[in-house]
Amino acid sequence: MRVMKIFIGLLCGAGLFLLVQQQGCQRPPPSPQSLAPEPHLRVALQQDPLIVKEINIEGYLMGVLAHEIYADWPLPTLMAQAVASRSYALYRLSHPVHEEFDLSASVSDQVFNPTEKPPLSVIEAVSQTWGQVLLFKGEVIPAFFHSCCGGYTEAAKRVWRWADPYTFLVSQPDSYCEHCKYQDWEYSILRETLAETMRHYGYDLPEGWVLRLRASRESPRIREVDFVLPLVPIHPVRMTGAHFRQILGYQNLKSTLFSLEEDGPLLTFKGHGFGHGVGMCQWGAKGMALEGKTLEDILHFYYPETELKRIY
Ligand SMILES: [Zn+2]
Repeated sequence: MRVMKIFIGLLCGAGLFLLVQQQGCQRPPPSPQSLAPEPHLRVALQQDPLIVKEINIEGYLMGVLAHEIYADWPLPTLMAQAVASRSYALYRLSHPVHEEFDLSASVSDQVFNPTEKPPLSVIEAVSQTWGQVLLFKGEVIPAFFHSCCGGYTEAAKRVWRWADPYTFLVSQPDSYCEHCKYQDWEYSILRETLAETMRHYGYDLPEGWVLRLRASRESPRIREVDFVLPLVPIHPVRMTGAHFRQILGYQNLKSTLFSLEEDGPLLTFKGHGFGHGVGMCQWGAKGMALEGKTLEDILHFYYPETELKRIY
């Protein structure tokens, strides 16, 4: 009986009161600092044909956390994810890209699946951070996150031009994700196949091309990829590491933290981590929680200079 009461209490606290309103649930009292109501979102479950679901943000977060992170990870990690996902959703709400909806339910925003039975740990993480977001200079930030940085996070402006204002999201070493399952990966491709793929994207590579990778002083992540002809001073085919990754496929070239080995016609990329590397590294946030770090520690490490605040 006591367990049932706790369970119902958690559901209510998480905004799923509709599911259990017969039991007389109430939402938690509003924050004394704010009178703002809980925002609603229009989430595109699919775009062709368009199917939009309207949902309160805390209910939305249940369906995001259940798919964006492992429910059996430590609570501070799940809470950090809830804060990051809530901040991202609220940022999108105030910076609309589409007329008909606020967020898509896919990886282009955050993976969301409406779920009637979120794991208890997800319900607890969402309800314990109810209404809490990350602010920078008083504005909600798009709190980017990724699976595993592989030992080095990435500066936001290196991945998206529009992320220029988020100067606090810099490249930094991260030792907390050393046990991430994507810590070491390899991807091999034939030169011929790579040239064909590049051609498909509008890049014609000259006969005899050589691949040059450039990192920078700030980070060992690959910033620029050049296709050059050795000893011939012609303008190379050049692109950012992020774009090169997009062309080869995010599942193949799992991050921009990689090196190259050549064996005859075979090119092998050896890398670390999975994802764009900006903001919170989920595996690192797990590592921090396992070392006893708190929600605030995790957010301070991955989103320095931001303020955690409850806004509704
Ligand atoms: Zn990391």
